[in-house]
Amino acid sequence: MDFQALTSLLAALVTLAIGASVLLRDARRKTYATFAVFTVTVALFHIFTFAAHATDLDTLRWLALFPAAFIPTNAMRFFGALLAEQASGGRRRASTVTYLWTALACGALVYGGVVEPIHEQRWFLIPFTAYVFGGLYLGAFQLYAQYRATVGRVEKARLRYLTIGGFLAITVALSDYVPRGTLSVPAIGNLLTVLYLYFLSQTLFRHRLLDLHELVAKMGVLGTLVLLLSVVYGLLLSWVGGGRLQGIFLLNTVVAAFVILILFEPIRGILENEINRWLVRERGELRPRMEHLRRELQNVIDAREMVRRVLAAIEESRRVTHASIYLVDGDGSAFELAGHIGPPPADQIDVAARRPFFDRLRGGVVLLEAVERERHTLEEGQAEAAQKEIETLDAIARTMSELHASMALPIHGSAAGRGSDRGPADDVLAGVFCLRDDRVKDAYLMDDVDIFRQVAAQAAVIVENSQVYERMKERDRLAALGEMAAGLAHEIRNPLGAIKGAAQLLVGPDGRLLPDAQHETSEFLGIIVEEVNRLNRVVTQFLDYARPYKGEPVEVDVNDVVRRTVQLLEAEQAAAGVTFEVQLAAEVPCVRGDAEQLRQVFLNLGLNALQAMPPDDGEHTRRLRVVTGRRSGRRRGDWSALVEVRFADTGRGIAREHLPNLFIPFFTTKDKGTGLGLPISQRIITHHGGVIEVRSEPGEGATFSVLLPVFEQTSVTATGSILQRDD
Ligand code: ADP
Repeated sequence: MDFQALTSLLAALVTLAIGASVLLRDARRKTYATFAVFTVTVALFHIFTFAAHATDLDTLRWLALFPAAFIPTNAMRFFGALLAEQASGGRRRASTVTYLWTALACGALVYGGVVEPIHEQRWFLIPFTAYVFGGLYLGAFQLYAQYRATVGRVEKARLRYLTIGGFLAITVALSDYVPRGTLSVPAIGNLLTVLYLYFLSQTLFRHRLLDLHELVAKMGVLGTLVLLLSVVYGLLLSWVGGGRLQGIFLLNTVVAAFVILILFEPIRGILENEINRWLVRERGELRPRMEHLRRELQNVIDAREMVRRVLAAIEESRRVTHASIYLVDGDGSAFELAGHIGPPPADQIDVAARRPFFDRLRGGVVLLEAVERERHTLEEGQAEAAQKEIETLDAIARTMSELHASMALPIHGSAAGRGSDRGPADDVLAGVFCLRDDRVKDAYLMDDVDIFRQVAAQAAVIVENSQVYERMKERDRLAALGEMAAGLAHEIRNPLGAIKGAAQLLVGPDGRLLPDAQHETSEFLGIIVEEVNRLNRVVTQFLDYARPYKGEPVEVDVNDVVRRTVQLLEAEQAAAGVTFEVQLAAEVPCVRGDAEQLRQVFLNLGLNALQAMPPDDGEHTRRLRVVTGRRSGRRRGDWSALVEVRFADTGRGIAREHLPNLFIPFFTTKDKGTGLGLPISQRIITHHGGVIEVRSEPGEGATFSVLLPVFEQTSVTATGSILQRDD
């Protein structure tokens, strides 16, 4: 029995096991099921080949060709299902042409078995082999095509490995069937095919880039070992003269086993380290990715967002197996885990309990290796005094292992950033950035440390900015609250004063109705009712403002809402003598929101405009222009299409000093105004993901623009807003 026959049996068994392991995961999944079918086909082919070799029966050799005929079809079906599972792939099937070929091959085989043994002829076997391998190459080519079309990093990496592995495995397997003359090269195609099938099955379950790289590294080690050891075995075999004589065959097998066993460990060690180094080191990857990250971070002010992006970039760089970022808590006594890659490290680290670590971290980057080296040197010195230092170093190493870190970088903050009363020169820690790669020993070179240090420095700036920003927001909130309270008091006091005045005119000090006020009673009561109504209006509007936003957003045609608003405005008393110019753009995209609320906003803007152009304003032209159209602006950092609704009047305009106060509740310059119209409008528009812009020249008029995101491009969230205008 020869080497190839033996490997066929081995390949059949392992292939079946691989197929079963996939099927056991989830037999209903299309990819898994088609994969299992494919492995069964391959295994059957191997089993028959083995049996044919073992028994030398022509019938078995003939039978082996049947599963072989199905290999291309089943391979295509599996690859089709695999690619269809990916987001961009449509449903691909093995084409009818492949089925036709399979049918043709089977027909020829049946003819060969029954009528005339054509399957033993060269002229049949060569095209048959070409058909089987051609089909397989076509499958691998499909993978390649999909690889070219894919954008996602993980998917792309997966497809790259699958394509390279596929071409390699198919080619080596093909080489087994090429006549090799006198050369005694062991047939390793079977082994490599099994290896590839195993890799394929594993990629079906693994979805992280890191896992994928690890898998490739493992496969690389395994594949190279198989190759090397087979060469050793083959050489020995040819040296002793093949396996023609039973005794010599046994002897050379024993010798080969010895040599292989002796070589196995050292070769594996060297290979593993080299392949890991090559994969993990890919030094070019880190720098550009981190530079890209730093550019990304320039637009970030939120510390949590920074953590997310930094970790994502680090994970993509493939240089870590563990990473975490801790940020200091409110009073600086502990650091809390803000995000991590790999198994979760400690949630919180107490500063007091880990003093040695934090003392060292304040001085700069802490490397576990350096700590261990120092400890080693101290231990060798055997000085008594060193004992304490060794304990400190041990404590640092313990903390590092709790943090899953082989390198820890400080994220420096300034005392000013934390709002502490210490001087700005007083440096405090704002966070800790931990990294580890447990695949290789000296994972980080000094260059890498420098790159990570720059990232930590930028993170420090963001943490500090976010703290300053939070405090500013809080201050603004308090200021607005103060103004609002003052406004509310004013709004309530005014009508109360009027009510009291009217009431006092009606009744005397003794509480009785004044007899001489009889005829004015109705007028005073009228004042009281009017003022109470006004109070009621203020309170209702205020509640409107404070009430949480609700309502299901639907598709809204802005032009429609504007048209109805203009109808209402034209009916207003204040509109007498005002020219309305309405310009509605022909194709305004829809927005998402509540038409009723949008109408409330537009009505409010329109009424404000009319009120800013009183009829007794002399010669002044009184014109209100209402325009709708498209605009583009920045939304959460990205450009997006917006719909604009503009109200431009020729009224008295807004004084420069009033501009910042327009949206503060109760700010009003009108006798009977409530100062709630604009704040409520702004709230509604914010909930629609938009903004209101104001431009005004005192004496020339004012322009209010409502900008709303276009429906197709965005989904409305409660907090979304447009950050920047494009003009
Ligand atoms: P109110 O209309 O009750 O005063 P708003 O919040 O709607 O409350 O408006 C606040 C203030 O903004 C108004 O009092 C006015 O001074 C100013 N304002 C609003 N719109 C205009 C406009 N089109 N022209 C001039 N001033 C305006």
